[in-house]
This record gives sequence, C-alpha cells and structure tokens, in this order.
Amino acid sequence: MNPKWNGQFSCFDLVAKTAARSRSVVRVLDIEIGGNDFVVMAGPCAVESESQLMHTAEAVAEAGARVLRGGAYKPRSSPYAFQGLGVEGLKILRKAREATGLAIVTEVMSEEDVDVIAEYADIMQVGTRSMENYALLEALGGCGRPVLLKRGMTATLEDLLRSAQVIAMAGNPQVILCERGIRTFETATRNTLDIAAVPVLKTVSHLPVIVDPSHAAGVRCLVPVLSRAAAVVGADGLIVEVHPCPEQAMSDGNQSLTFPEFRSMMDDLQPYLALQQEARQLSPELLPIGGAA
Ligand code: PEP
Ligand code: MN
Repeated sequence: MNPKWNGQFSCFDLVAKTAARSRSVVRVLDIEIGGNDFVVMAGPCAVESESQLMHTAEAVAEAGARVLRGGAYKPRSSPYAFQGLGVEGLKILRKAREATGLAIVTEVMSEEDVDVIAEYADIMQVGTRSMENYALLEALGGCGRPVLLKRGMTATLEDLLRSAQVIAMAGNPQVILCERGIRTFETATRNTLDIAAVPVLKTVSHLPVIVDPSHAAGVRCLVPVLSRAAAVVGADGLIVEVHPCPEQAMSDGNQSLTFPEFRSMMDDLQPYLALQQEARQLSPELLPIGGAA
C-alpha cells in the first residue's frame, strides 16, 4: 500500500482496512452491499406525492434497482425551496416498500429525527451538508440501521473516514461510503466527481463504496457515463435520481433521469459490470498496483 495512505488513514481503526478485515458487507433485507453484487439505489430527489413515488418505485424496480431513494426531509440551499413532506413522506415511502419490496434509503438531517426516520427507513442517508454534524453521527450510532454517509462537498477522504469512524465508535459499524462530487474551480458540472476516491477508499477501508453520479453531474446527460465509470473503477453500487417528469420535479429535475433513460442506463451498464466481474477474477480486488493491504 502507498505508505502515505497507510499513515493517513490507519488511525481510523474501526473503518480502516486490515489484514483481518479487508471487506465488510452491509446487509439490508436480502441485499448485500459491498459483496459481489452491484447495488443500484434509485428514485426521486424528494418524495412529492404518493402517485409520483409509487410510479417511480415500480419503474426503478422493474429496471433492476434494489433500493428506493427519496427525501422526506430535504436540505435545500435556499430557505424558500421545498423542504420535504416530513412524516407524510415517510409514510409514502413505506407504502412503496410494501408494494415493490424495494428497501428504502432516505435522508436524516437532525439527531431529533433519527428515531422516527429509523422506523421507516432501511438505510439512513447522511447528506453532504451533514457529513460533519457529529451530534447527528453519534445519534446514528444507536439507530440500528445502516448509514449511507455522503462525502461533504468540501471534505477530504480523510474527513469522510473520520466521520465514518465517529458513527462506528458510537456503536454502528454498518456504514456505506458515498462519493457524490466535490466543489472545485470547475463550473461545467455541478460538482466534480472524484472518481479516484473509489479505488483509494476501497484500498484503505473495508467499507462498501457507492457513487452518486446525479449530484456530481447536475445534468442528466452525464449520469449514464459517470455510472459506467463508477462500475469500472470498482464501486459497489450507485445512487441515482429518477423522476416521472423531471421538468416538473420540485428539486433536482435537471439531473433526474426519466424512466426510459434509467432503464437504458441499467441495460447499458451490463457489459461494464461483466468486465468488472472478469477483472475481479484475475485480481480479487480492483485496486491500484500494490494496493492490497
Ligand atoms: C440528495 O441525495 O438528494 C442530496 C441532497 O444529496 P447531497 O447531500 O449529496 O447533496
Ligand atoms: Mn437531490
């Protein structure tokens, strides 16, 4: 392993890769995240109505997604923007779960909401703006649900792993890391997808790593190609925004795929996933040269 990485990350002992612990699998219903499957989570940015969510849930399940995303509590850049349906949104998510069998991932923004969201969610999402909210991370230590920890938009990988360590130290080792793009000087995309974050994290940590191409790109036309890149560098899955009618979405419409676009993206991913499987057989971990711990 690159000695710099080793020195930098080994202090986060609960999440760092060791000879004894090279890979951890997070189990949700019958889904294994961080195992051999490439797990796709998909759905709208925000839960807007029952019909919007139910239609989306059916469409993404049919196309091969295993987890339904949808925010009931929305962190918005503007205080005037739609803030989410709250508990009503959670109840709609539960209905969609019952109808389709999809697991649910939804965002938690405050430690006060942890208990109520844990009643409805299979995976608790920590958004980019909350990655360093330690009161929230500590509260998630006892929530009994896996945590999807998104990288802060100005956070280094060391910062991300420190936050993962905080959740693990608080009693919850079930953490999934998510690269969702970071702020750079580039303005052509909403954020810059740090694709190298995937092999670095897979080298230094045993935790599963997924990619959010939607918030990285900010435009839907880039989402399929970034998803393919994620598959090839060894990500364990994706979280993707999909909406029945993106032009009418209450948030993140520009980056949301339509149902047919999502289906094509899933179909087009298949050869890349096969390539990843083949490469894994040659070298069990898709890691940088000399990357194995
Ligand atoms: C989201 O998933 O809709 C979201 C707000 O993501 P992020 O925290 O990465 O901006
Ligand atoms: Mn969004």
